[in-house]
Amino acid sequence: EQPLLSVTDLTVTFPTRHGDVRAVDSLSFAVRRGQTLGIVGESGSGKSVTSLAVMGLHTGARVTGSIALDGRELTGLPERELSRLRGRRMAMIFQDPLSSLHPYYTVGEQIAEHHRVHFGSRRAAARRRAVEMLAEVGIPEPARRAGEHPHQFSGGMRQRVMIAMALACEPDLLIADEPTTALDVTVQAQILELIARLQEQRGLAVVMITHDLGVVARVAREVLVMYGGRAAEQAPVDTLFTDPGHPYTRGLLDSLPRLDDGDDAPLRAIPGSPPSLLDPAPGCAFAPRCPRAAAAAPAEREHCTATRPGLRPSRGHLVSCHLSLHTASPVPGGTR
Ligand code: SF4
Ligand code: MG
Repeated sequence: EQPLLSVTDLTVTFPTRHGDVRAVDSLSFAVRRGQTLGIVGESGSGKSVTSLAVMGLHTGARVTGSIALDGRELTGLPERELSRLRGRRMAMIFQDPLSSLHPYYTVGEQIAEHHRVHFGSRRAAARRRAVEMLAEVGIPEPARRAGEHPHQFSGGMRQRVMIAMALACEPDLLIADEPTTALDVTVQAQILELIARLQEQRGLAVVMITHDLGVVARVAREVLVMYGGRAAEQAPVDTLFTDPGHPYTRGLLDSLPRLDDGDDAPLRAIPGSPPSLLDPAPGCAFAPRCPRAAAAAPAEREHCTATRPGLRPSRGHLVSCHLSLHTASPVPGGTR
């Protein structure tokens, strides 16, 4: 079966006063209907830029490579075509629903308007559809709440409103960019459950973008780990957690809070900061922070800083690392 979304060699470059910033570099992935791909990385890893490029919302950027939706090439499509596809075929939800909702209109009006624009439906039918959608995303008393304004909803309910709006036109692809980051843990779990339920009922393809491996573990079957605009590793979610191949993935896993940590244990962040995307170094983007390279013999370390690793298949994963954790430790007796 052909994937619903196929991204091949996607490169997104922003020209700036100081030179080109390559936010996404030669990225490839695919998502099938009924499947969730998690894209994980720190801020600045290129995950949000990737999703904006897929939606055709990458203002001011140069995009090369291919983005195909159901076999149709999206790069180079005129904005008029793209805006027709947004909503009808693909929709996106963000961390902050308030930034996408209009403060002066009721949520019912906004969902109805969205539906009218994309489906040309009559006002009354669009209103009915809006109430149906609010019910479907689990908002109690949907008919009454359709008449309320965004600020009258809690953060979690507002995210439900966004999901209702995104799905009102029955898209095939939903891109969710940190949809639960601003929510407390309980509400976060409810929203993720909602997305999973809607996906199953509607056979949606979902791209879940997050910095949180915990979120990915709950919803995704396949995970793409990004670092510095590139793919570091791609793997099925269960073996990503038990058998990571990339030292950066290992670092992300190590920074997850653990049950035996106790409440006031410090978070173990990966030391160092994300790479500059302006004038990127020639070798591996993770090299300055990589414990495996640091523990390697000088010749191997030099290889890391001089030569960019490419994605290679390894134990059911794709790993972009010269000294993958799937191979023996680079130095006899060395760590990892
Ligand atoms: Fe670390 Fe080298 Fe692998 Fe990059 S290629 S992640 S620097 S070991
Ligand atoms: Mg982001």
